[in-house]
Order: sequence, then C-alpha cells, then structure tokens
Amino acid sequence: MSRPVIAAPAGAALLARSAKRFANETPIGRKRRARKMARELAEAHPDAHCELDFETPLQLAVATILSAQCTDKKVNEVTPTVFAKYVTAADYAAADRGRLEEILRPTGFFRAKTDSLIKLGQALIERHDGELPGTLDQLVALPGIGRKTANVILGNAFDVPGITVDTHFRRLVNRFGWVDEEDPVKIEFLVADLVEKRDWTMLSHRIIFHGRRVCHARKPACGACTLAKLCPSYGTGPTEAAPAAKLLKGPRARDLAAHAGVDPGLVPAAAITTPEAP
Ligand code: SF4
Repeated sequence: MSRPVIAAPAGAALLARSAKRFANETPIGRKRRARKMARELAEAHPDAHCELDFETPLQLAVATILSAQCTDKKVNEVTPTVFAKYVTAADYAAADRGRLEEILRPTGFFRAKTDSLIKLGQALIERHDGELPGTLDQLVALPGIGRKTANVILGNAFDVPGITVDTHFRRLVNRFGWVDEEDPVKIEFLVADLVEKRDWTMLSHRIIFHGRRVCHARKPACGACTLAKLCPSYGTGPTEAAPAAKLLKGPRARDLAAHAGVDPGLVPAAAITTPEAP
C-alpha cells in the first residue's frame, strides 16, 4: 500500500480537510471503514499480543493489577519473583504485607497493589474455591479488578472475546472517528458494535500496539501510518515521510514504515530501541 500523496501544509487546515472527508459518513460506512482499518492493523502488527508475561489466569490477574500506572516491561521484571513466591490464591491471602510490599515497590502504588492482591486472594478462596472465575460479572465483583482488567483476563486467559479500553485505545478510536466519547464503558459498547466479536481481543492488542508505536499521544507519525487514508485525524502529527518516520518506535519500526509506503531507511536506529509509551 502506498502512502497517500497529500501536499504538505498547515496542520490545522490539513486536519480539517481530513475530518471533512468523513463528516457525512453513514453508520454502515463507519462500520465498513472500521473493519478495513482493523484489517490494516492486523497486517501492520502481526506481533501484537498481551505484553504482560503470565502462565495462568491468576498470574494474568496479578500482572494486570500491577500494571496500573506502570509499564508492562517493569511489571514483567517483578512478576517472576512474585509468581515464584505466591502460587495460589491462598498464598496471596496469607501474604506477609510488608514482604509483598517490598517486592511490589518498583511497580509504584505498591501499598494499594499489595492490598488488592491480598484481598483478591481472600475473595477467591471465599467465593470461588481459590480459582479465578471466567465471566465478566464475577470478575468485576472481585477486589482490584475493574472492567478493563476483567476484559484483559477474559480475552487472554479464557479465550472469551474482550475489548480492553486503556488510554491508547481510547485516544485512537476517537482519532479514528469510530467514537466521539471518553467514557471507557460507552467506548467498549460502541466499538463492540463496529467489529466482529471474534476480533475484539486481538483488535485491542493491535490498537494498543499502534498507539505505542505509531499514533502517539502528543505527536502521532501520520506521514508513516498505514491508516492515513482512512483516518479523519490524519494531519494531527507530521505528514511528511522523513519527520514522521523518526517518530515510529519499537523493534519493528522499519517494517511499520515499509508497510505505510515509507522508506525504512528514514527510521533512525534509535527509534528501534527507544522505549515505547507505557
Ligand atoms: S498516526 Fe495519524 S493517521 Fe495514523 S491513526 Fe494516528 S492520527 Fe490517524
């Protein structure tokens, strides 16, 4: 796919022109465009996956709780110690608070996270024989588990399709013009209506990957984005290839440039090793 050729200029004017192209879109038109964008994202991010390391549903619940206000990378550095020491719900329920706090300290908000894990262990023993339940209603009733965490657990540990509305997802689906909404639960239902249920979990990963690597909060790489032709927010970031390519991040930054029809040689080596947004 080649990058759209749109003359350089003026951010605001260009952005207005992009938005105007989709201003009269019908609901069915939006659904078709959303599905096309979802297919583009699948091609652009074949490596998309849950970036938290885990082997069991309980481990994923713990890792997701620890990921609040913390990078997945940092969580993955801490969880091997946690998982070696605390294997069952009973282990968390009986944890020595001070010792667990010390282990969790690098993830931030460690007192609150310790509290959540101990209460989660206790609730699992009291209500679910120590096992993590596999339904949204049961999960969100547990301490420390909100709707976002529950959907991560359902989608990745139980193979039940779930849409994860994190900060990247919320920003991107608004930029995509899929929604005009900030409330995570409303966003979840609106996006659920646009794409096939079987795609929910992977679409969430791909959108989050795109948000971390291409469509950044402050300066999205519009000129090196595979979604440019389909995005009403094209022009939010630089649209020329060279400055946009410099904004790409992650180990596949050059592949992402090539996929968008941009010379991969424009991606500096540092982009490949620069840490992505959490
Ligand atoms: S990088 Fe630009 S073109 Fe791509 S999705 Fe984000 S706002 Fe749209």
